[in-house]
Amino acid sequence: MRVTPSYRGPMTFNSGSQLDPDRVQRRGPGKGVAVGGGIGALLVALFAALTGTGTLDLSSLTDQDQSANAQAASTCLTGADANQSAECRYVATVESLDSYWTQTLPAQTGVRYTEPTAVSFSGSTSSPCGTASSATGPFYCPSDQTVYLDVGFFDQLTSQYGSSGGPLAQEYVVAHEVGHHVQDLTGVLDRSGGQQVGAGEGSVRTELMADCLGGMWARGAATTLDASGTTFLEPLTEQDIADALSAAASVGDDRIQQAATGQVDPDSWTHGSSAQRDAAFRLGYQSGQYDQCARILTERL
Ligand SMILES: [Zn+2]
Repeated sequence: MRVTPSYRGPMTFNSGSQLDPDRVQRRGPGKGVAVGGGIGALLVALFAALTGTGTLDLSSLTDQDQSANAQAASTCLTGADANQSAECRYVATVESLDSYWTQTLPAQTGVRYTEPTAVSFSGSTSSPCGTASSATGPFYCPSDQTVYLDVGFFDQLTSQYGSSGGPLAQEYVVAHEVGHHVQDLTGVLDRSGGQQVGAGEGSVRTELMADCLGGMWARGAATTLDASGTTFLEPLTEQDIADALSAAASVGDDRIQQAATGQVDPDSWTHGSSAQRDAAFRLGYQSGQYDQCARILTERL
């Protein structure tokens, strides 16, 4: 039996909704697992060599990290779990995003939605886009169409960036990264000149559009159904919206620069100002329209 934690925040996920715990791949502390896996593999090889058998149940050789991760995964079964742990909230949010975009993307753009891979890591992990670490923050890598996220970033949102840290603030981060995946599918990531930094340039516009796509999901999430026909999210409250906007604003380039260096340098912006990120999320939330979000790429900011 799991002890019910004394969680008293808004129960944003419908507690009866069903989750697939395997939707998010878990990678334990990079080096720990690599070493553990190495020893495990060596033991398998030794065992095979000694006994002449080629197979062995690997589960009997799991190191502590791996069994801990397996435990964490197996507990993410319902929306109630998502309301209690950041790890499970990540799983539930990705599944909700899958359902939302599976319906919405073809309906609005004619493009079929394919699910991105979602990885949860702690410490660091490698990706085709470079090494992911807790310090780099969450990101989407187009080469393997994968969202990389260390749920520890949720704590940083509050402690380092001053976000409210409410559930929808965390879900917004996931929705933003899946927004990049949607951009990848519609070809926007290739065309937007995403490397060009500075206020009003390609990178800022791409990022603001991803915020807007996150807002679209927030609007649709309360009516999106899981496999058993239950809605993932309960209708959003004003507090939920405030949480998401708080998260969007807290990671604005101006606020991050101000906190880090005491100065604001719009020429080096990659994601847009707090006010721009707030407005972009709001545009998606209020319109629910992909076309509205895509206009951010070309129109005056
Ligand atoms: Zn982004």
